[in-house]
This record gives sequence, structure tokens and C-alpha cells, in this order.
Amino acid sequence: MQYPEAIAKLIDSYMKLPGIGSKSATRLAFYTIDMDEEAVQQFADSLLRAKRDLHYCSICGNITDVDPCEICRDPNRNQEQILVVEQPKDIMALEKMHDYQGRYHVLHGVLSPMDGKGPEDLNIAALIKRLQKSDVNEVIVATNASPEGEATAMYLARLIKPAGIKVTRLAHGLAVGSDIEYADEMTLQRAVEGRREI
Ligand SMILES: [Zn+2]
Repeated sequence: MQYPEAIAKLIDSYMKLPGIGSKSATRLAFYTIDMDEEAVQQFADSLLRAKRDLHYCSICGNITDVDPCEICRDPNRNQEQILVVEQPKDIMALEKMHDYQGRYHVLHGVLSPMDGKGPEDLNIAALIKRLQKSDVNEVIVATNASPEGEATAMYLARLIKPAGIKVTRLAHGLAVGSDIEYADEMTLQRAVEGRREI
């Protein structure tokens, strides 16, 4: 027996999400059918709204519903430090520790020759432009401790240091291969405090 088309399509849609295989997708699809119509409507609305209202900050690349984002607009944040992360969700993790008062820049990925991802595929040109017309004296590279994250940090250091700007890397209280987004606040705090120049 084949599923009715509406269910098959729903399963297909769920399967496009990361980490969802056909079994989970099928379970979610049947769960959705059992939800009352109002809840389904709310779910659909929140998907559309997130897609319509959220975009990337034109300065730092963070996800925001206002441009520039809240952090870039905040006059109390230190103009002299920029902390570079791979993904917007890394900013959320770092902001939770309430310790860092500088600004951010989101690369939207890391250098990965295997996947054909070069510097021009990342939000690097905007970072260099930012550095040229600001008083930044330190760029803290907080890419993950993966080989690609390390290579990206080295690439950025080579690019930025000749301009006389200090480039630092988070200390490895973070285990190799561990992701910023999953690190707890204490670990992140120690990693930021113990950062070293590269
Ligand atoms: Zn921003």
C-alpha cells in the first residue's frame, strides 16, 4: 500500500531537514496529521514568518529581524574587538556567558577544499572591509576546533595581521572537534579568557 499523496509529500518535506531519516519523517508526518488544525496553522505560520522576517545583518552576518542587528547597533559594545564565528548560533552560545562585550562577525561556514568551499564562499570580504574602516585592534577567531576551523583561523590570521591588527584564537578548553554551540558557559568563558595570539 502506498501513502496518500499528501502524506507522502509531508514525509518528503520532513526528510529534507538535517538529521531526519525516513523513519522519523514518517513519525512526524503522522503526528502532524493528528494535531488539531489550529496548531498546524501556527506551525506553518511560524515557518513562513521566520523565513520572511529574518535575514542576515548587513554588517556582521548574524540572523536578525532588524538591520543592522541589535548587537551591531548597541553603542555600549566595545568597537575594538570582533569575534569571528562560523554560524549565527555560535553567537547565541557566546552571548549566554554575558562576558564578551565586543562585536561579532559570522563567516557562514569554514574553508573546506574537499567541499569546494573557498574564501569567496565565506563572509570574509565584508570582514576585511569592516576592519579597514573601524578601530578594531583585535580579531578573536572562534571557529570550531576541527581541521577546517583551524585552517580557516590560520587563513584569517595571515590575511589580517599585516594590517597591524592582533589575531587571537580561543584557548582549547574546547576539546578538539567540539562545537562552540554545544559548549557550556564556563568552558566558553575559559576559552575566551585564555585566548592566545596566532
Ligand atoms: Zn550585526
